[in-house]
Amino acid sequence: MGDGAFTVVATDGAARAGVLRTAHGDVPTPAFMPVGTKATVKGIDPEALRSLGARMVLANTYHLHFRPGADTIEALGGLHRFMGWEGPILTDSGGFQVFSLRDTILATDEGGVSFRSVYDGREERFTPELAADVQRQLGSDVAMCLDICLPADAAPAELELAVARTTAWARRQLAAPRAAGQLVFGIAQGGTHPELRRRSLEEIAALGCDGHALGGLSVGEERELMLDTVGWAAPLLPAGRPRYFMGIGDPEGILAVIERGIDMFDCVLPTRLGRTGSALTWAGRLNLRNRCYSRDSQPLDPSCSCPACARFSRAYLRHLVNQQELLGLILLSLHNVRFLLDLTAGARVAIERGEFGVYRDAALARIAQGQSAREVAK
Ligand SMILES: [Zn+2]
Repeated sequence: MGDGAFTVVATDGAARAGVLRTAHGDVPTPAFMPVGTKATVKGIDPEALRSLGARMVLANTYHLHFRPGADTIEALGGLHRFMGWEGPILTDSGGFQVFSLRDTILATDEGGVSFRSVYDGREERFTPELAADVQRQLGSDVAMCLDICLPADAAPAELELAVARTTAWARRQLAAPRAAGQLVFGIAQGGTHPELRRRSLEEIAALGCDGHALGGLSVGEERELMLDTVGWAAPLLPAGRPRYFMGIGDPEGILAVIERGIDMFDCVLPTRLGRTGSALTWAGRLNLRNRCYSRDSQPLDPSCSCPACARFSRAYLRHLVNQQELLGLILLSLHNVRFLLDLTAGARVAIERGEFGVYRDAALARIAQGQSAREVAK
């Protein structure tokens, strides 16, 4: 099943295994996309990223538009060449940054949104046409539509207006020029409001986008409510196109959205945790600042083959973290990204075998067991 750039190769319940074909190569799904906010996945060289198993990375339009500027990146041959990553790249529209930096917004109107740049405080404006043009200049493989993402406590009337504008903006952006071979994904809004979410899904799905994202979730609502919404909303999107959940990266959350029919997701969690001295492992989350690791000669995770686990002990990594040595942050980031890529690759194999539920239960039990064993040992 599938049309255009995406093929579903297996399903297990609502979970899907597929392939997204882009101008810079194929991406097996479910796919975890490490986040390269400023055209770099923090601390990880693109060559290392590739050997960890990453197939597609995300970059942020907001940041690249202001520094160094899309004109500069275009003049240097586009984002792939600029950042030394020849694989697929997804760029967001910049809308999420604008709407999550709420204090910087000056006005939102039919045409677009005006705000103050976080870089120099100057008045700036994003429109669907600008979002299309910047992403065209960057030359990403997947461009996202500019949308209006509101916090979980937004009033229904505000949410309704955001849904209407998000659809109108998506229609305008889809009509704008794009880079050769660039796919454009629409974003459905509506928070957890059943009627508005359904309306947004229907309107966005009718526009003929190459893929669809569920936006406006994971913005402060209860997790159960968020997952419930994903559970009924994802299947309402066209089955033959990829479905992207924006911003989830904890192991439990990743497995939960895959189970509900999501194909792609991204998060800064693995590199952010790495920078704070924490590791995601099959035995739960390790905080290397904890004294119990000071003479621990084991690798971070005995079942991981990343560069950190292959060569170094927990005690050494703890030492690096405590001394704020760059190598410590790099190794932990490598490990954390590898962990989520492995978790997701395992999910794909399980879906193909029709054993996703077994895989999910085993993974969650293993993580919970390790976590509680360590708490008892403390
Ligand atoms: Zn590792």
